[in-house]
Amino acid sequence: MFGNNHIAVVGAGPAGLIAAETLAAAGHRVTVHDHMASAGRKFLMAGRGGLNLTHSEPIDTFLTRYGTAAERLRPAIEAFPPEALRAWSEGLGQATFVGSSGRVFPHAMKASPLLRAWLGRLASQGVTFAMRHRWNGWDRDGRLVFATPGGNVAVAADATVLALGGASWPRLGSDASWVAILEQAGVHVAPLKPANCGFLIDWSPTIRERFAGSPLKPVALVFEGRAVRGEAMITTTGLEGGAVYALSAPLRDAIAAHGTATLLVDLRPDLGLDALAARLDRPRARQSRSTFLRKAAALAPPAIALVNEVLARRKGEPDAAAFAALIKALPLTLTGTAPIARAISSAGGVPFDEIDAAFMLKKTPGVFVAGEMLDWEAPTGGYLLTACFATGMAAAKGAQNWLRHKAVLSPPSS
Ligand SMILES: Cc1cc2nc3c(=O)[nH]c(=O)nc-3n(C[C@H](O)[C@H](O)[C@H](O)COP(=O)(O)OP(=O)(O)OC[C@H]3O[C@@H](n4cnc5c(N)ncnc54)[C@H](O)[C@@H]3O)c2cc1C
Repeated sequence: MFGNNHIAVVGAGPAGLIAAETLAAAGHRVTVHDHMASAGRKFLMAGRGGLNLTHSEPIDTFLTRYGTAAERLRPAIEAFPPEALRAWSEGLGQATFVGSSGRVFPHAMKASPLLRAWLGRLASQGVTFAMRHRWNGWDRDGRLVFATPGGNVAVAADATVLALGGASWPRLGSDASWVAILEQAGVHVAPLKPANCGFLIDWSPTIRERFAGSPLKPVALVFEGRAVRGEAMITTTGLEGGAVYALSAPLRDAIAAHGTATLLVDLRPDLGLDALAARLDRPRARQSRSTFLRKAAALAPPAIALVNEVLARRKGEPDAAAFAALIKALPLTLTGTAPIARAISSAGGVPFDEIDAAFMLKKTPGVFVAGEMLDWEAPTGGYLLTACFATGMAAAKGAQNWLRHKAVLSPPSS
């Protein structure tokens, strides 16, 4: 019978779990395999920041967030758009709300109740879980081979959905071990790179020792004419935080091309240049520069330290206009990208050219791919999870259709 195929889903993150749900709802036998001891570890981690599930902006604006991958993702996202994701969450008892920035969160502001209800639904659909199963490739008979605590296990599946994640936070499960397996199968994989990541700056010992962990807020960061307002955080090795992540793709690419990138930091984004210069155009008397900046420009200690850091490399004391210009556009030299292990997500992965419109790998028929392991990237704002859900569902539907066609072409002998 068509609906009773055995389908192996590999990867128990949001993309794999929604694929499992979709296939089980269509009557297939589904087993979800994962090498971790429990499902959805990164999903739970995303919940620590409030679980930004999706975004409420109009769909055409929403799709632009995926840059060059937008048109390849459009059919999947239009088939399971942000409203559908919100309704799905509500169906699991986790109604959502739109935050002031347009971002969408579940009221619980965490992933655990949603994941618990979801795993309950999957169990009631008959989905089985094979945890501590590390997928290591295929054997000669085309069976999936898993390393388990009890030894290697070979699994024959009528179709497979791979949803193995990217390369960030490997301790949560997505360690990119699949890259070598797919490359061996002849699939080209675009190198995995950090996305929504921090950057390295050669801080002085003062900044490193006294200000690591200090937020800079509010700030506006400017790179290549694009300004992002928000928060940044000084780290021992550089800078991270929401506003930095929003510019991380062009910054990362500029560093790859030129070795460094200069990020401009507006430390007083609420005050115009002239107003700031007027405030700074008053006698300093015997105040130190730091006291003067605190009083006249209302800068916090971490911001003052950054100004001092830049001025330490310049000669003389700036006048009011030059001081204001510096505070409104403080140049920081980024010397590298923080390690991918600490990035929110990764860019790169299986290129869209390697899959067909149904998310099936062209070189390995019957094997479908979904989620962050595909070659797309997006800023934070709910775009990551939305695309993982949408492609998970699209890959599941692709697998269903493929099995249906296969059944029609080769009907079982009576
Ligand atoms: C700190 C943090 C906060 C985040 N916050 C948000 C947010 O608020 N909103 C948002 O949209 N996104 C957020 N994200 C990103 C989001 O969590 C990911 O994009 C999403 O989880 C990716 O889903 P996925 O199913 O593709 O992969 P994953 O969730 O990474 O799941 C992949 C699964 O595959 C398994 N696996 C990998 N290799 C193997 C193997 N060889 N054998 C067996 N199993 C394997 C892994 O164990 C894992 O369970 C956040 C990420 C981080 C790190």
